[in-house]
Amino acid sequence: MDNNFDVIVIGAGPGGYVAAIRSAQLGFKTACIESRKTLGGTCLNVGCIPSKSLLNASEMYNKAQKEFENLGIKVRDVKLNLSRMMSNKNNSVLKLTKGVEFLFKKNKITHLKGKGTIQNKNTVLVTDDFNKKNTYITKNIIVATGSSPTSLPGIIIDEKVIVSSTGALSFDKPPKELVVIGGGYIGLELSSVWKRLGSKVTVIEYFDHIIPGMDKDISNEFLKILSKQGINFKLDSKATGVNFVKNKAVVDVTHNRTAKRERIECDKVLVAVGRKPNISEDITKAGIKLNNQKKIQVNEKFETSIKNIYAIGDVIDKGPMLAHKAEDEGIAVAEIIAGQAGHVNYDVIPAVIYTSPEVATVGKTEENLKKENIKYKIGKFPFLANSRAKVNNEMEGFVKVIAEEKTDKVLGVALIGSLAGTMIAELALAMEFGASAEDIARTCHAHPTHSEAVKEAAMAVDKRPIHF
Ligand SMILES: Cc1cc2nc3c(=O)[nH]c(=O)nc-3n(C[C@H](O)[C@H](O)[C@H](O)COP(=O)(O)OP(=O)(O)OC[C@H]3O[C@@H](n4cnc5c(N)ncnc54)[C@H](O)[C@@H]3O)c2cc1C
Repeated sequence: MDNNFDVIVIGAGPGGYVAAIRSAQLGFKTACIESRKTLGGTCLNVGCIPSKSLLNASEMYNKAQKEFENLGIKVRDVKLNLSRMMSNKNNSVLKLTKGVEFLFKKNKITHLKGKGTIQNKNTVLVTDDFNKKNTYITKNIIVATGSSPTSLPGIIIDEKVIVSSTGALSFDKPPKELVVIGGGYIGLELSSVWKRLGSKVTVIEYFDHIIPGMDKDISNEFLKILSKQGINFKLDSKATGVNFVKNKAVVDVTHNRTAKRERIECDKVLVAVGRKPNISEDITKAGIKLNNQKKIQVNEKFETSIKNIYAIGDVIDKGPMLAHKAEDEGIAVAEIIAGQAGHVNYDVIPAVIYTSPEVATVGKTEENLKKENIKYKIGKFPFLANSRAKVNNEMEGFVKVIAEEKTDKVLGVALIGSLAGTMIAELALAMEFGASAEDIARTCHAHPTHSEAVKEAAMAVDKRPIHF
């Protein structure tokens, strides 16, 4: 094999594999190195895809138990077959990771199996599972090594009792009692899964609200809804340690304000307190600069401090740790290397939590705007007043459109409700085109759809919703 390439990508997650495909489309001789057995990174193997499979299946199970009867569907003996649910999830993962393999072949990308280490700005060493080493020469390197779960001091993840999201995607039976440390999106999605499948779930969150950084209205509503679903919350509290007593784990919790301490006994502990960038020694040895959170510093062209070495995805100091952000960066960086104007608009990156109901946001929150001293107006519309949501019994939640006071330009949108994750695309598009709330209000939306609530919320910015 010829060991010379135009572009070598390290890591085949949504950032890396997309960068490789776009590079190949642009005519670069491209290789992508991956140390995992399958392509697709965290997202396809132990992140977005398996979690969404379990969210979907557990929601069906929950509906069959609790909602079908009201719809006039008689079902008898609804039973959980968890191993079948898990194999359905594993099959979905397999199909999608194979799909990336197919795309690599189709685009003539060389898939290098093993761990990639940067030797210098034009040389990468690949060490495979049998410790066989090969050196490759390249004009450009794209680092897309992603991230891994992190923990808290003194709480050691063993993936048996104290698990990360990876372990919580593969329990062999629903834990009787599950403690989730961290009320961010990963913690809450997996709390929903296991609550629906029969676990008693307690979430411990350091802040006094869930999903830190999210619009407060939405966060408060979300908390109410999840609490009604039976998830327990210990807010403004920190987990300080986990001990083992007989066959049980015991989580020590201290309330931040009152310093009151308590111990919660459980079968499993999920630590979902964030993720750390995958930075191996070679990256720092090569002289690539990191910020104080140990993420790779890049400029607007995704260049690191070393010329011809680029970085994208979870490993960099820009934007949220999300798969679609990584993908867009993958496209942009390849285009930049090709001398084109690749670009990612960090002001318009949607974020979705795939619980039931879903939560979706894009752009600024009210809290951001207050801090930035920007005057704004708000339009809200509840799904309670949306006809489709009503007939589907999906009346929880609302749409909130925030527009600049003077210009009416949409600055941010937050939704909580069924299909929020799908509806947010319209808002992201509107924001990319610099739309005003009036533009959305005057766009004809099909009836009866949940997305009419988006139009009504935009009308509510000007205090003229029709159905509320
Ligand atoms: C449970 C869970 C649910 C999630 N759900 C969502 C969701 O619904 N939507 C969303 O947008 N995001 C979601 N995410 C986040 C998403 O998975 C990440 O943001 C995304 O995968 C980041 O992509 P990446 O390409 O930067 O890195 P990764 O996907 O982490 O891929 C990096 C790859 O590089 C490989 N690698 C690392 N170092 C080397 C090396 N030296 N040599 C060779 N290979 C190497 C790793 O093995 C890995 O496969 C979720 C994450 C988790 C954990």
